[in-house]
Amino acid sequence: MTFRELNLKDDILSAIEELGYVQPMPVQEKTIPFMLEQTADLVALAQTGTGKTAAFGLPVLHMIDASQKKVQALVLAPTRELCIQISNDLKGYSKNMRGMRVVPVYGGEDIRTQLKQLDTPPQIIVATPGRLIDLIERGKIELGGINFLVLDEADEMLNMGFKEDIETILQRTPDTRRTMLFSATMPKEIAMIAKRYMKNYEEITIGTKNSGSENVAHIYYVSQARQHYLVLKRIVDLNPDIYGIVFCRTRQETKEVADKLMHDGYNADALHGDLSQAQRDTVMQKFRIRNIQLLVATDVAARGLDVSDLTHVINYNLPDDVEIYTHRSGRTGRANKKGISVSIIHSKEKFKIKDIERMLKKDFEQQQIPNGLEVCKKQLFHMIDRMENVEVNEEQIDPYMAQIMKQLEYLS
Ligand code: AMP
Repeated sequence: MTFRELNLKDDILSAIEELGYVQPMPVQEKTIPFMLEQTADLVALAQTGTGKTAAFGLPVLHMIDASQKKVQALVLAPTRELCIQISNDLKGYSKNMRGMRVVPVYGGEDIRTQLKQLDTPPQIIVATPGRLIDLIERGKIELGGINFLVLDEADEMLNMGFKEDIETILQRTPDTRRTMLFSATMPKEIAMIAKRYMKNYEEITIGTKNSGSENVAHIYYVSQARQHYLVLKRIVDLNPDIYGIVFCRTRQETKEVADKLMHDGYNADALHGDLSQAQRDTVMQKFRIRNIQLLVATDVAARGLDVSDLTHVINYNLPDDVEIYTHRSGRTGRANKKGISVSIIHSKEKFKIKDIERMLKKDFEQQQIPNGLEVCKKQLFHMIDRMENVEVNEEQIDPYMAQIMKQLEYLS
């Protein structure tokens, strides 16, 4: 499916195409037609990184009247960071829609700038609950006319003690609004909010394959920045049957690493946003059928790829965000198979490992970079194993046996 088939307005389509979105992610495939074609509310069990923002953002933008200067949609989010991120994403999706304004309001920042931005009501407000209530009480925000309410990361909002604030806000919005609730988990309190404040809602679940799988071992190697490539080669050499994704930060780095690997004789290729859709499809297909053993990719490019039996995920650099790490490592260890998530880090980044350990509630193991001898041993035994396990069709090789024996004659 493509975004074109979802019947979104042209000015939205052009914006997301510029962002490089071609295919909707699974959550978007479900929510966008649902929101555009039906009238019920929506409860979606989906984690961050699954494309949630566009999943609610695109249909809401589609249905808002940009020519009317009043608040038509409200998005509630637990943290200032998320609030800014959602607001930036929505601004990106609506950049070709004339007159559309998205304003984020969140605590921890001077309220005066936010007050100013609200002098003319924007069509969309993205808010943390406390600050929103403050602004409502100051008479700066009026929610009586909203058509859409999105509760993003609803479980996080409850964890952070926003339950009453949320209820206060819900009571200030008209009953005619349409509500979309997103949550990574579904504790009883969320079900209760849904029951109490939402009308005959539809529930959807997006596979949560990435939540710190028990089958994934996390290891890391410490190396200087300039040595990352050499460490990567050692890791690959040590695992001759590797089938994995090497995650890089930028397109440039993705290209460089893939080129070097290919130049050095590895079975690798690159997947990044500079490729045409057709080129991307080809690379992905080759990887799926294991014509390629190592796919070097950016996070965004790897998103459309669903391969379930990766042996390794390699973080060529540690991502800044724990969620990205979770998402990457969750690509291995699926379907009851063991997987390994390897990170190549700088010694200054050990604190980041600690952060990830804490968030994932998993221990990471530091390993020594394998030396040449270990790699040789591994490769040798790999070759011997292959020889031992090779399946021969005796009848078919029979005609060649004489020649083979002759060629190996000199071996003792
Ligand atoms: P979210 O779960 O909303 O934080 O989205 C995760 C990431 O995926 C963001 O960086 C989005 O820009 C990106 N993204 C969302 N939808 C798509 C899509 N259909 N194609 C490519 N990237 C997307």
